[in-house]
Amino acid sequence: MGLPADYHMHTPLCRHASGEPVEYAARAVEVGLSEIGFSDHSPMRVDDFDNWRMYASQLDEYVEKVRKAQTDFPQLTIRLALEVDYIPGHEDWIRELAGRHPWDYFIGSVHYVAENFAVDDPDKLSDWKRRDPLEVWTVYFERLTAAAESGLFNIIGHADLPKKFGIHPDRDITPLQERFLRAAKDSDTAVELNTAGLRKDCKEIYPCRHLLTQAFLIGVPITFGADAHQPGEVGMNFEEAIHLARSVGYTHWCRFSGRTMSYAQI
Ligand code: ZN
Ligand code: FE
Ligand code: FE
Ligand code: ZN
Repeated sequence: MGLPADYHMHTPLCRHASGEPVEYAARAVEVGLSEIGFSDHSPMRVDDFDNWRMYASQLDEYVEKVRKAQTDFPQLTIRLALEVDYIPGHEDWIRELAGRHPWDYFIGSVHYVAENFAVDDPDKLSDWKRRDPLEVWTVYFERLTAAAESGLFNIIGHADLPKKFGIHPDRDITPLQERFLRAAKDSDTAVELNTAGLRKDCKEIYPCRHLLTQAFLIGVPITFGADAHQPGEVGMNFEEAIHLARSVGYTHWCRFSGRTMSYAQI
């Protein structure tokens, strides 16, 4: 059985990644992947929203870079996608983005739990210190549930991102997580096994085994992604992710083409 697709990787357009899509594609071939997908941070309607995404005017350039990789690497299936920030109120913008190009999938990610506070931003660690971790995690899962319910996304990205710096709630939040997973199941939205967590303070795949076990029991499909921000990270730690998926019971991952899901064996 071949490796599952790596559906989460970035490009220099987001201003914090390096290497052109053709270099990510070359690395994918090197590590034995047969399918990848680019999912760079989507632009916002206002370009000065933050400083870690492409400008709205660069969307066509992004698509061209991915098309170039597709042309240069015909032996590799390369999907065109975006990692889209889910923020309540941004739904119309997300729909507008969806109509601009023939995307294969959208990853919906919650980074922001409040205005100006992205839970994974190292520059915002002082914000974490001022807040109650339980409140941050609660808002995070409420937003993740709304993202799944919105039907705007095919995959939910790094579904327990607030653990990045190792800050956890002091109470069991299983019921909140279950609500999110049921919303994902009802809307045919997958969750990704994102290996970038292994490279962060939490030293753990997103999501954790507990959340992934619940996802399996509820019947939520999965995808895989290394969240590469440089070519060397493509497909990173996939053996560990595959092992985790299998050990909770998963036998299939899902692929997306033209925003339609199909299944492949792990
Ligand atoms: Zn990024
Ligand atoms: Fe992300
Ligand atoms: Fe990412
Ligand atoms: Zn990401």
